[in-house]
Amino acid sequence: MRIVLLGPPGAGKGTQAKLLEKRLQIPHVASGDLLRMAVSNRTALGLEAKRHMDEGALVPDELVLKLIDERLSQPDATDGFVMDGFPRNLRQAAMLANLLKKHGGQRLDRVIVIEVPSDEIKKRISERRGREKRDDDVEDTVLIRLEVYAAATRPLLEYYAKLGLLAQVDGVGSPEQIQARIRSALDVADSAVKA
Ligand code: ADP
Repeated sequence: MRIVLLGPPGAGKGTQAKLLEKRLQIPHVASGDLLRMAVSNRTALGLEAKRHMDEGALVPDELVLKLIDERLSQPDATDGFVMDGFPRNLRQAAMLANLLKKHGGQRLDRVIVIEVPSDEIKKRISERRGREKRDDDVEDTVLIRLEVYAAATRPLLEYYAKLGLLAQVDGVGSPEQIQARIRSALDVADSAVKA
């Protein structure tokens, strides 16, 4: 199964993707993690990406695409994946469709948007700041990332809805509750996913 998770920063995409990875035995492909890895490895791509990430801005599409292409070329991703953080704008959505086509005529099965009100998002990110040290979780940057989501990423909802791929899930609740909502949106029977 090929799944994309959408939702604002702090919506819990990473947590939900990890749970899906385990249950469905498909790799979690997170553009933010791939970028942070490139940054910590101090590759040329990573150094260029970091400038944009620290500002809360999007990294240029081509740089992220390169990391996603490399990741989807790994053998474990040929039968499915749960993607988080990519695509983040309409151009990246078109790039992803092309990339999947290139990888043997693949297509997305479902796009899940995790909906969380922005007041709740701001609260969650300030709590995360206490736990995880991320250079881009400072308050001003979070506000910019929320604006970038509204302006660049939200239009993807209509795009995927038109393709008949979109399912909206309420992202307020415990991780287990949200996971159950996602699984029912994926039409994955519980018996089929118990490991
Ligand atoms: P969050 O969902 O909390 O914003 P991510 O880990 O997904 O966190 O992304 C962190 C940063 O990495 C973004 O603010 C952006 O700078 C960069 N980034 C991640 N994915 C993409 C992407 N698909 N296109 C451009 N930039 C990206």
